[in-house]
Amino acid sequence: MQTSFEVENRLGYRILRWILAVALISGVIVSAIQVVLDANRVSVDLDNQARQTIAIVKDAATQAVFSIDADLAEQVVDGLFAREAVHLAQILHTNGDPLSSRERPLTESISRPLTDWIFGAERQFRTELIRNSNSDTVYGYFVVHYDTVPAAHMWLGRATATFTSVIATAVILGMVLFFIFHMLLTRPLLRIVHSVKQVDPAHPDDRLIDKPAGHEKDELGLWVSATNTLLVAIGDSQKRHREAEDKVNRLARFDQLTGLLSRDSFMELLKADLEESKRNHTRLSVIVCGIDDFKSINDQCGFRTGDRTLQTVADRLINSLNGSRYTVARLGGDQFVIVEKGLKDGFQAADTAEAILAGISENIGVEDQNISITATLGIALYPSDAIQPDRLLQSAEQTMMLAKQKGRDHFQFYVASIDQEIRDRKQLEKDLSQALALDQFHLVYQPQINLVTKRVIGAEALLRWEHPVRGLVPPDYFIPVAENNGSIVEIGQWVLEQACLQAKLWADKDLPLRIAVNLSAVQLRQDRIVDDILSTLKRHDIPAGRLELEVTETSFMTNLADAVAKLHTLNRAGISIAVDDFGTGYSSLTYLKKMPVQHLKIDKQFIRDLLINEEDTQIANTIIDLGKSLNLTVVAEGVETAEQEYYLSQRGCKLAQGYFFSRPLRPADFETFVQGFHQKILENNT
Ligand code: C2E
Ligand code: CA
Ligand code: CA
Repeated sequence: MQTSFEVENRLGYRILRWILAVALISGVIVSAIQVVLDANRVSVDLDNQARQTIAIVKDAATQAVFSIDADLAEQVVDGLFAREAVHLAQILHTNGDPLSSRERPLTESISRPLTDWIFGAERQFRTELIRNSNSDTVYGYFVVHYDTVPAAHMWLGRATATFTSVIATAVILGMVLFFIFHMLLTRPLLRIVHSVKQVDPAHPDDRLIDKPAGHEKDELGLWVSATNTLLVAIGDSQKRHREAEDKVNRLARFDQLTGLLSRDSFMELLKADLEESKRNHTRLSVIVCGIDDFKSINDQCGFRTGDRTLQTVADRLINSLNGSRYTVARLGGDQFVIVEKGLKDGFQAADTAEAILAGISENIGVEDQNISITATLGIALYPSDAIQPDRLLQSAEQTMMLAKQKGRDHFQFYVASIDQEIRDRKQLEKDLSQALALDQFHLVYQPQINLVTKRVIGAEALLRWEHPVRGLVPPDYFIPVAENNGSIVEIGQWVLEQACLQAKLWADKDLPLRIAVNLSAVQLRQDRIVDDILSTLKRHDIPAGRLELEVTETSFMTNLADAVAKLHTLNRAGISIAVDDFGTGYSSLTYLKKMPVQHLKIDKQFIRDLLINEEDTQIANTIIDLGKSLNLTVVAEGVETAEQEYYLSQRGCKLAQGYFFSRPLRPADFETFVQGFHQKILENNT
């Protein structure tokens, strides 16, 4: 919008121009008529004056010409010249000879060209001189020429005055009218324009147009009132329009019954979530949840109860899955969908599925009825099952349908192998949680041999799980599960108790061995771990030097300072610390220097191919040398052959354990082994 406009375009100025033009033109016409009439009168006056003068002097002139009295004639002529306008005066004989003649030049005047054009330069009169009126004897002629300028001057003065006053009147009138117009119209209009410019087109009724002061009741005030009424109406209509738009949007985005996202908006969100997962290289699960046998709830209890049930399920889903990692939506009917972002693995999706099932299966109280419901879930994973949003959802929906055919109140994964694996692990987890109480654990001990003295100096305590159905479950399989669900803390404590108990028993039997216990990273992260270990030792009356804790490098990676502090406390109490599986992790010197470590355990993978694989031999050598330079005892683990044992002892590795000496043994077998082993060495020496 143009903010200022040309001055000559303003109404006031245009009015001024028009008034001036009209006043001037009409003034000029009127005054021209006046002036012309005046000129006419002047012209007639000139003639009348001349005739009167002639009439006055005619008798004297006749007398002079009759009596040929030159003096008299001259007197008459001179008398005439008293008048300014007379230019020439002559008394002539009949033959035309002058008896008396006088002439003076015409008056000089710059206005002559104009006045001569109007009045002529002079007026000439010639009268016959006759003695008495009844005789017609002509004695001579009387000639008078009048200069028109004196009269014309007077006329011109009047005409100028007339024109000037007309123009002045027009200008004054124009100015006055312009001012009045400006005050009454232009200025308030400009104010209105200014006020109109402040109106916000998006919210026209927020700021209405101000009424110009003093114009409340006139046409301007009326105009402003009418316009304001219009603005309010427009604002109102806009508001209604916006509200309607919002409502339409809400209806489209959210499910009316449950308030959850609708299918379309869910798909949009899923697309965005998948893009995010792709960027961050994280997993995501889509869980489709179908209520089991919802149709019979509707049939038996009515639609109202059915609706209330769906609302309750929606509320429960929202409440049990809060946090930005979850999206919950209603797909329609009795089906809901849940997305979980930032998944570690499929097991986490299984945990979520279990939580959902547990939440839904609580009884619902609707209008004095106690309704029990269950749901069946189908789970599809990104990126393993599908990468497109619609395919992923479709997979989860199909899986849910399939799962429903097999039963109710359970979940199923899209890929059968994953489903089986997860099912197994879930079962394992369940069994593991009862293993302690059902007394399914026991410890076995693997002897640790001093390669120089050939004596058994200690034992590593290793956990065994005797599963009633599966038999012996390998710790490499169940320990990660226990670490994952935290039960390792309790199990680890049990291992420690058992190991201490055993150490005490052996000490009492004059078998003072150092027991090495594996300490999981999860255990080391517990705040109470130091107190727990020290108090266990105390309770079993074991000197701290009898206990060794095996930790892996990864267990102090997450919170180095915390791990260092805890291990220092334990070490100061007399417990020795060994780094387990050394060489497989970071094997960083920085960590090693910070850690209060006494033993390095070369991982069995390097010992296995010792003397076969050059690289593994190199690593074993390096660890042995590193131990020497840092003054740490190196333990070789997994020694299976005499060659390995020979090489290691030659290379300067002080301790070893492995099948070459013994498999991990039950305590009684262990005692037998020690006796036999020492016996054999003795025999060899003698
Ligand atoms: P690890 O601490 O490295 O334990 C050494 C493993 O090597 C043991 O397997 C042992 O039986 C095996 N082994 C010993 N000598 C030989 C050999 O000559 N050849 C071969 N091939 N293997 C040998 P195991 O008992 O199955 O334990 C596996 C892992 O389970 C252990 O590895 C340890 O990380 C974990 N684990 C076992 N018991 C416990 C426990 O009480 N607590 C914790 N936190 N972890 C445990
Ligand atoms: Ca170990
Ligand atoms: Ca190891």
